[in-house]
Amino acid sequence: MPETPATPPPEWTPDRIKTLIALWDEGHPTSEIGRRLGVTKNSVVGKVHRLGLKKRQSPIRQASTAPRPKQVKTVKSKTVVKPPASSVKMEELTSSMCCWPEGEPGTDNLHFCGQQVVDDKPYCDAHCARAYVKVSKDRKKRSSAA
Ligand SMILES: [Zn+2]
Repeated sequence: MPETPATPPPEWTPDRIKTLIALWDEGHPTSEIGRRLGVTKNSVVGKVHRLGLKKRQSPIRQASTAPRPKQVKTVKSKTVVKPPASSVKMEELTSSMCCWPEGEPGTDNLHFCGQQVVDDKPYCDAHCARAYVKVSKDRKKRSSAA
């Protein structure tokens, strides 16, 4: 008895049609649907047409190529104290200059704020604010962890 041919004639049983519709709804390309059902892409296209399946959106393609939704701008949500743009090298620092480190420590990129310090603090106005926030946060963390 001869074996069944490798590619049996495409037959759209209710089950296969169901699969076709499911794959179609999921946004698979017709060639992929055909591969899964063992039929040609043209067969899938023709069947989709005959079934009158609505033109789908392709969630798969959308996920990879759709532009990301614009992020909601969070600017000005807080009073951000912007540190001054100018900076000085370590050897240029004086006792009246803000010694807030910027850049990467241990590299040539490391430099310091260099702005006029506040009173007897080691930092300028902006960096005093940042230093204060940081310390209080750290303390909070430590006490809650204990
Ligand atoms: Zn500073």
